[in-house]
Amino acid sequence: MNTQKKSAVVIGAGPAGLMAAEELAKAGIAVTVYDRMPSPARKFLMAGRGGLNLTHSEPLDSFLPRYGAASGRLAALIAQFPPERLQAWSAELGEPTFAGSSGRVFPKSFKASPLLRAWLRRLDGLGVRLQTRCALQGFDAQGAIIVDQHGARIGERADVCVLALGGASWPRLGSNGGWAELLRAQGVVVHPFRPANCGFDVNWSPLFIDRFAGSPVKPLRLAFEGESVRGEAMVTCHGLEGGAVYALSARLRDALAAGGLVTLHLDLRPDVDVDALALKLARPRDKQSMSSFLRKAAGLSPVACALLREADPQLPAEPQDLAILIKALPLQLVGTRPIERAISTAGGIALDELDDGLMLRKLPQVHACGEMLDWEAPTGGYLLQGAFATGFVAGQAAARTLLA
Ligand SMILES: Cc1cc2nc3c(=O)[nH]c(=O)nc-3n(C[C@H](O)[C@H](O)[C@H](O)COP(=O)(O)OP(=O)(O)OC[C@H]3O[C@@H](n4cnc5c(N)ncnc54)[C@H](O)[C@@H]3O)c2cc1C
Repeated sequence: MNTQKKSAVVIGAGPAGLMAAEELAKAGIAVTVYDRMPSPARKFLMAGRGGLNLTHSEPLDSFLPRYGAASGRLAALIAQFPPERLQAWSAELGEPTFAGSSGRVFPKSFKASPLLRAWLRRLDGLGVRLQTRCALQGFDAQGAIIVDQHGARIGERADVCVLALGGASWPRLGSNGGWAELLRAQGVVVHPFRPANCGFDVNWSPLFIDRFAGSPVKPLRLAFEGESVRGEAMVTCHGLEGGAVYALSARLRDALAAGGLVTLHLDLRPDVDVDALALKLARPRDKQSMSSFLRKAAGLSPVACALLREADPQLPAEPQDLAILIKALPLQLVGTRPIERAISTAGGIALDELDDGLMLRKLPQVHACGEMLDWEAPTGGYLLQGAFATGFVAGQAAARTLLA
């Protein structure tokens, strides 16, 4: 009987890679995790700055369609590591979770760093070796992984490898999408990266940018071609971003890429219907300036008043027409913000390049997981849930093939 311990290499120490490493190590496999950055999971820590929205509490039949075209494939993967399991895992690491009023699930501490510290301690206890400042460089003719370790190229001949190299957004946190060419060179189909959960460019006037860049617009409802989302947005010097914008961003991005004119409609008073608003606007204005009248009569914030003026400097005189404008203010988007500033990435390894255990059909013994696969989802915890679940499946499947 061969008593030598089997070995695995995981490349990428984000949530997907660390989860794969945990599953491999629990199966008794010697695991080394490599990451090109000086410390692990930098994007995960950045997600913690926003409270670390780990997953979502809605039932799976509403949850899974959030993955759009990839939902069929993701359903089978998330079934193996569903939201309740992620929450239990977090609690076991000393970070119990709760669901906010929106259904989003957060650790009670609202932070990523205590969870990551506890997780790294657990991995260390399982014997996982973490090697930072080591970047994947490619594959040699025998299929071994080439890693650049502190400037020296070494060929890693582990029994199995899990790639968890992330997408291409926020490259300064580690994931720069540089792996795409390495896999394409091996014949793997990698769809082009596109920004997801991103902002959009608007041709604001210089005066508007000067006064309102950085201002939140809330509450509001955004609508685009029959789909509408309530939430908030943020005016930036380039255009508009924020939760409600991200929720529509995949469709807006694709419409802009198709070369069409993209007009978003803003409802600046989502809680009042047009007729009730028109009634308020029918009050005498007396000597008030238009802005102060709009603030008092229609309850609009200064930035909302300025948005109206940006769209139409000659505001309609009729209360009904003005109410219609406030409820459906057209805003033309002229571009998509670059991928470097997007929350996440669309595109990546085509899902049919992977078997049920997320092994690359063209590179046997190499699995891939996390945001490097071609799926996208809105914010709300769906991104981390997808990364954790695919890392879990890749790690378990890699362990199974080794121990079979
Ligand atoms: C500002 C911000 C806030 C976010 N907030 C949330 C949130 O609240 N909820 C949510 O669900 N999602 C959130 N996300 C998205 C979430 O963080 C990512 O989807 C998730 O981190 C993806 O996990 P991953 O393991 O696939 O990739 P990553 O976390 O990107 O990890 C990939 C790792 O691979 C390493 N790597 C890359 N290339 C190489 C190479 N060639 N060699 C060696 N190592 C390499 C990188 O250094 C990195 O450590 C947020 C993202 C951002 C930018």
